[in-house]
This record gives sequence, C-alpha cells and structure tokens, in this order.
Amino acid sequence: MIDLKTLPERLLLGPGPSNAHPRVLEAMSQPLLGHLDPQFISLLDEVKESLRHVFGTQNAFTLPLSATGSSGMEACLVNLLEPGDTVLVGVNGVFGGRMCEVASRAGANVERVEAEWGRPLDIDAMIEAIGRVRPAVVSFVHAETSTGVLQSVPEIAAAAREAGSLVVLDCVTSLGGIPVELDAWGVDAAYSGTQKCLSCPPSLSPVSFSERALDRVRARTRPVQSWYLDVSLLAGYYEGEKRVYHHTAPISSVYALHAGLSLVEEEGMAAREARHREAAAALIEGVEPLGFKPLVDEAHRLPMLTSLLLPDNVLARDEAALRGRLLNEHGIEVGAGLGALAGKIWRVGLMGENARVENVERLIAALREELAA
Ligand SMILES: *Cc1c(COP(=O)(O)O)cnc(C)c1O
Repeated sequence: MIDLKTLPERLLLGPGPSNAHPRVLEAMSQPLLGHLDPQFISLLDEVKESLRHVFGTQNAFTLPLSATGSSGMEACLVNLLEPGDTVLVGVNGVFGGRMCEVASRAGANVERVEAEWGRPLDIDAMIEAIGRVRPAVVSFVHAETSTGVLQSVPEIAAAAREAGSLVVLDCVTSLGGIPVELDAWGVDAAYSGTQKCLSCPPSLSPVSFSERALDRVRARTRPVQSWYLDVSLLAGYYEGEKRVYHHTAPISSVYALHAGLSLVEEEGMAAREARHREAAAALIEGVEPLGFKPLVDEAHRLPMLTSLLLPDNVLARDEAALRGRLLNEHGIEVGAGLGALAGKIWRVGLMGENARVENVERLIAALREELAA
C-alpha cells in the first residue's frame, strides 16, 4: 500500500479541488462526535447560519448536503421538477449541459438557450424564452468553471419570477470567492461545493431553498425520485427541535466546512473578492508576455478561474505534456480545456486560499523555465 506520508504537496491551480487551508485540515483531524450528539448539532447549526451569510439569504432551509457539488445540482432539479414539467436551462458550458441531463432524467421537458462557450448567456434571449415557454423552473450557472464566464443573475431571475417560474442557480465556483446574493437577486434554489473557493476538500454541497421552492416541493403529486436527496426527508435531520436519523452526516467534512466558513467570515467577503481579483489580474499580466491570452472578455471574466488561449509555441508542442511537466517537475496542477476548447485553452484556478499573488509568481516562474527549455 502507498504510504500516505510520501504523497507530494501540490499547488492546485486547476478548476478544483483547490488546496485546503491548514486550519481546515486540522479541523478534520478532531475526534468524531455522533451525528445526533447535541454538540455536533450545535456545530451543524452554526454551519447553516454561516452558509446563510455567504449565500446572502434568510432561507431557513440552507444546509450542507452529504456529497459533492453535483449532488446539489441534482437535489435542486429533482425536488423542484416533476415528470412533464418544463425547465429552461441556459447552456454556455459543461455545467449547463449537465443540468439538462439531470433534468431530463427526472422526466422534465428540457428547453435550452445556448450561448457560445466563453460568452455569457444572452439576457434578452433568456427573457424572450422565459416569456414564450413559461417554464416551471429556470436554471443556469453563475460561474461557469468550464469556460471562466461570470453570468449576471438579477435580470434573468426577475423575468423568471414574473412568469411564475422558480430560479435555480449553480454557485459551485462563485461561493466564497465573489458575492452571492440569493435573496436580493430573487433566486429560489442554489447549490455550491466545498472544494473551490471555500478551501475545503471535496465532500459537501451547500444548498439553499426559498419558501417558494419548498411550497413547490410540498405541492408535488409524486414523491421525489431520489430518496437520499428528498428535501422533505432531509428536513427531519437538519431542522427543528428534535432531530431524527435520515443518513449519517459526514462529521469530519462538516468540521472542515465550519473551519472554511469561519475563514470567510474573518476575512470578510469584500476583502476576499478583492484578493481574488488581484490574483487574477497578476496572472493575466504575468502570462501575456509569454503569449497566453484570456478567452473571456474582461467584463464577463471570473476572477477565480481564468481560461487562457494557448500561444503557438505551446500548441506546436504537446500541451498535455507541458501540463505534465508543470505537475511533476514543479508540483503545480493546471486544468485542461473541455469539449471544443480541449487542446486550445488551459484553465487556471486561483480559488479561495490559493488566490494569492505568490502562487501566481510560482506558476509564471515555472512556465518561463519550461518554455525556455
Ligand atoms: C465543480 C462544479 C460542479 C460539480 O461539482 P462536483 O463537486 O465536481 O460534484 C458543478 N458546477 C460547477 C459550475 C462546478 O464548477
């Protein structure tokens, strides 16, 4: 068996996971409590309260689901959609496409509004489609990690609400890196993950459901297809005076999230956003002289995930081999392009704890050395 003590230390500058903060790793090594122990329940309640702050919501039903970000996507869609319902999905990258797949498996009719990868959704096209289709749910991605595009939310959410549609938002990469304001924007259900800007290992999916969303779940004519992700069953453990067993909460992961959220609160969202923006700006400034160019226009560019078009001298070599050298010789992971962008871009994540100019400098020094060779 591999001796875990011999595992290398990597600087994780890909699309996730990012490096966990040392305080998070320390939290995970604390002794286990039982999942119904009042001390653990108090800790869980603090996590829920802290998640309300970062999500910008008063939603009572705000909690960490016991699986990675994709479980949040699935939970939002399978609870809010019944077979035959129509969902309108904005698709400008991998994760919008995945929403379509999840919704169609739930028996929903899926209407897509597509935009070019690397561009945001066209707000007018979304508003037009909402008015025409009047879907039960409108679903889209705030921070598209496959391309590095930031989506403006309030205009689409307002049009959806006017049409009586619920709004689902993917905040996996945005939460903890840039402000998320579910209540101000009018979002009904949102989900995130722990391994991107919250600086925790992958394991949990913070989710939040509004009262409007919960009313829709209560009005269902059929039970939710997923027993594990049924929000009405989950409420019995995560809420109320007396907690009942549904599944065993992942104790150490909840400790990790508690530590990750306390780091966000100590730093403050404004400072955190500024740190992400500063690191992204340093990255672009540092790689442009090497011939890399950002894929996304500045106005729609995410600070925590930058897609870089590869220069000719990298395209002429083997970009995957160069990424391999960054990993093996320099201990730095960067992400490949996906879909049509595979082989054309790299995705550099400066997420959570990793969003620091010193990490950018380390990457640039390694790249300079490799490209000179
Ligand atoms: C990473 C990611 C997901 C999926 O999260 P997992 O933790 O990999 O399950 C969903 N949406 C977006 C935008 C992501 O970046």
